[in-house]
Amino acid sequence: MGLLSQGTPLSWAESRQYNDYVREHGINQLVNCFNAAKGRHNDHFFWGDEIEYHMIRIDDKAKTAQLSLKETEVLKNLGEHGKDKQRAIDQGILFHPEYGRFMLEATPYQPYDGETIEGYAEVEQNMSVRRTVAHNEMGDKNVHAATLTAFPTMGCDDFTYPKTVPKGPSSQSLFLPDEVINQHVRFPTLTANIRRRRGQKVAINIPLFEDTNTDMTHLDSSIPKRELFSGDDEAFLGAAKPGHIYMDSMGFGMGCCCLQVTLQAPDINEARYVYDSFVNIAPALLALTAATPILKGRLADQDVRWNVISGAVDDRCPEERGEATLQGHKARGGIADNANVIYIPKSRYDSVDQYLGDIHSQPGIDGLSHITSVGTVSKESESSADYTYFEPSLNDVESPINPAVYAKLRSAGFDHRLARHFAHLYIRDPLVIFKEKIKQDDATETDHFENIQSTNWQTLRFKPPTQKATPGNDSVPGWRVEIRPMEISVTDFENAAFGVFSILLARAVIKYRPNFYVPISVAEQNMKVAHTRRCTTDGKFGFRVNSWHGQNEESVIAQLSLDQLFNGYEDFEGLVPVTRRYVHETFEIKTEQQRNAQELLEIYFKFISKRASGEIPSTAKFIRSFVMHHPEYKHDSKINSSINYDLIKYLQRLERYDPELTSEFFGKEISTWMSDHGY
Ligand code: ADP
Ligand code: MG
Ligand code: MG
Ligand code: MG
Repeated sequence: MGLLSQGTPLSWAESRQYNDYVREHGINQLVNCFNAAKGRHNDHFFWGDEIEYHMIRIDDKAKTAQLSLKETEVLKNLGEHGKDKQRAIDQGILFHPEYGRFMLEATPYQPYDGETIEGYAEVEQNMSVRRTVAHNEMGDKNVHAATLTAFPTMGCDDFTYPKTVPKGPSSQSLFLPDEVINQHVRFPTLTANIRRRRGQKVAINIPLFEDTNTDMTHLDSSIPKRELFSGDDEAFLGAAKPGHIYMDSMGFGMGCCCLQVTLQAPDINEARYVYDSFVNIAPALLALTAATPILKGRLADQDVRWNVISGAVDDRCPEERGEATLQGHKARGGIADNANVIYIPKSRYDSVDQYLGDIHSQPGIDGLSHITSVGTVSKESESSADYTYFEPSLNDVESPINPAVYAKLRSAGFDHRLARHFAHLYIRDPLVIFKEKIKQDDATETDHFENIQSTNWQTLRFKPPTQKATPGNDSVPGWRVEIRPMEISVTDFENAAFGVFSILLARAVIKYRPNFYVPISVAEQNMKVAHTRRCTTDGKFGFRVNSWHGQNEESVIAQLSLDQLFNGYEDFEGLVPVTRRYVHETFEIKTEQQRNAQELLEIYFKFISKRASGEIPSTAKFIRSFVMHHPEYKHDSKINSSINYDLIKYLQRLERYDPELTSEFFGKEISTWMSDHGY
């Protein structure tokens, strides 16, 4: 989440005149950051996670489970600007606002030390403290913080507590009232400005799961006929598709919860290499964590959230999308008449579009890399020789750039690929501009840069340092990479396991230098595979299998199941075995604390391995099977309020490690380990 400025947000019609101004100063700010951090290297390996929660109110008498809109005190007290913030800090945690008023985000207060094995053992404990503190802070003890990716009946009748009616001007949604949006002015403005820029409401159509009694031929029966806003008929003008779950509001996507991890790389070149290495791991992590079988009270024919969010914040007008306009709508949406409109293949929220290139790092005398050639590679001079593994032809999907931004970054010393990366992000318009924050000091502030950077929501984010991050100023973060594809899981155990595993895998990548490059179109295709039902067990993902054997061999790309990718097979050392080997070859195990940490990592690896092999079901499969066996389920793909209540209660038991549920979900080995370890 970017910064939350106080002040007056401009509506789209007022704000769009400042678009170029914000971009220009955003780039000045980036250049200043880049220059300040020049020569910075050997940064410590810190990392941290972010967990998002739904605040769910369970009423056992009425047998309902609803999203609570009343628990705003948690953030008012314990958030970054909270009056009792110190109470959270004292326990090593911090709360952050999220899009939904029914949501919370929490992180560790300090990043973890990724260079000692003990650092990895803190994660789950820290997550557990976050949940307890959040729970204790709730005014209503029937509300608890649940880690579900999508709330199953969001957008259905009576899904909020207290009751609300969808008729809000910001989203104009037929299903989601504006009351579900975080009350900070940024969020309703963001919602409205996306709609205004696009020229119509967002339209998300997710394939409906076809059960024996499912109606696949008609439009979603939950779409009401209404005449409150001009866009109320959009669904009937083609925005909604038959056989699909139709959603028309930002909240359906940004109201989803996910797990993110951010790591600090030793320097900019290592950050580029880690970023590139994870481009094609990201779709696999999405599939491995699949947890979204239900949307708006309907079973979906897919298991993940990703394209719901892509659609939910898609501010492109029809002309930019290359699509026909709805009757009565403008092809250019709310874009100013004199503005340049180009074809933009993807939403602001989507997978990574291009590699950054693993610019050569020359090992220094201390064995660590030193920045050598940033700034020297130009478009004309670029060749494979500039990179360790990357080749320009691997960036084979269309990703338009902002030419003025590119030229400016090149003249400021950014090499071709780095300039192209930011010039691509900068094809987007700022969505919310605060009147009081237009004039900024580009030498010290970064709001304009972050305005565009943090509303490009890709599977990975390349996070630059700030202007304060001069070499040696180690207390200020350096170059970081955020890994963003994962769905949130029900238990802290799973979330810790996925977070820790991804980070240790990144460590293993830095140490063993694999070549995971595939044409980026292959990673795109993998993202599509991650959007098929049962992707966790049935999906096949294109992956470079001769990745561990150096740079000069010709690439061999095989179609792997998650089992083969994570557990390995004769031709490929899997991601779990190599991470396990990394732990074994890297950390000293002398103290009891270190032995305990090692044991914990081993159980995490077992869990990941069993999930990948299908021995442990995906969260999506587990939820789907609960619904299919529910006595009230009519095989029409619909989830009513009572199935929803039973499901939420069932998952709450899992979240609390009820032994019956843990053995059903995790299987004997892990559930026995859990009961032996006081879960
Ligand atoms: P955002 O929402 O923009 O991704 P957050 O502040 O919510 O940002 O989360 C940032 C994450 O990065 C947290 O998990 C935090 O612990 C972690 N973090 C903070 N400083 C560093 C650092 N120097 N290196 C790596 N991770 C860091
Ligand atoms: Mg968040
Ligand atoms: Mg955050
Ligand atoms: Mg984040």
